[in-house]
Amino acid sequence: RAKAKGKACYEVFDQAMYLETLKAIELESDLRLALKRNEFTLHYQPIVSLKENTLIGFEALIRWQHPQKGFISPVDFIPVAEDTGLIIPIGDWVLKEACQQLRTWQQKFAALPQINSLTISVNIASQQIQEANFIEKLERVLAETGLDGNCLILEITERVLVDSGQNTNNTLAEIKRRNIKLSIDDFGTGYSSLSYLRRLPIDNLKIDRSFVENINSNAESFEIVKTIITLAHTLQLKAIAEGVETREQVNQLKTLGCESAQGYLFAKPLAVKNLESTIFIIYH
Ligand code: C2E
Ligand code: MG
Ligand code: MG
Ligand code: MG
Repeated sequence: RAKAKGKACYEVFDQAMYLETLKAIELESDLRLALKRNEFTLHYQPIVSLKENTLIGFEALIRWQHPQKGFISPVDFIPVAEDTGLIIPIGDWVLKEACQQLRTWQQKFAALPQINSLTISVNIASQQIQEANFIEKLERVLAETGLDGNCLILEITERVLVDSGQNTNNTLAEIKRRNIKLSIDDFGTGYSSLSYLRRLPIDNLKIDRSFVENINSNAESFEIVKTIITLAHTLQLKAIAEGVETREQVNQLKTLGCESAQGYLFAKPLAVKNLESTIFIIYH
């Protein structure tokens, strides 16, 4: 009997796995078509200076509107894109689109003071950085859009940096030579080795939302955030807090000397139209 039951369980498991696989294959083939069918858009989340209370830039975040399945979160499809190599054409599209958009805003809102100092932050997957022609692609995008390198910030994760070889180091140096800035995304969640921070030309540490979330309620989270900000300042980097949702978090972050922040308290990631009708009117 035990044996029979075991077999039944196994079959159920098998079927579940089969369905999972089927879903993954479907997602992959849909993802393959998504670029051609123009199903991606970018939303832009404001990043604000906590010192000056001003808008300093935006993070571009990809959105996928599937024709049948509706909205699919980047949390669900970016990993598939990374596994299948589709992250390269998708990432190329994001970079171009984001730079194009900031350049458009610079022209459209030329009358706003400080419009030219706003930055655009773009998430870059490790495979993109490791591409042999990544610098060429960057140069081409800047040339084609007319955007200045110092308006662009690339967000990369610790994973890229911890075991970075000579090629990655050279790429990062070339990025710096073009005045493009580098932020480490989700800082604190990845790896334990911090030696890359001294080695590599980083500008900002983005404190992961999971720490910011509990900064007022949990002593450990508070200590971690405080430590990350101190670390950033010791290394002459700036700290950016992710996922700020309350006034209390802002007050705490200000006290700790955190330079800037993004989060629902200030604004959610917004479509271009919504952003143009709100943010550019509020922040000047
Ligand atoms: P991320 O780069 O760390 O982006 C921040 C995420 O936190 C975004 O989720 C944003 O919507 C969310 N967020 C911002 N403020 C708040 C807040 O106050 N509360 C809460 N609960 N969430 C907040 P999103 O847009 O779903 O993106 C998730 C992740 O997907 C990103 O995390 C990034 O790792 C990845 N991703 C998004 N767009 C791209 C892209 O164009 N390329 C690549 N390679 N990855 C991307
Ligand atoms: Mg990011
Ligand atoms: Mg982040
Ligand atoms: Mg994050």
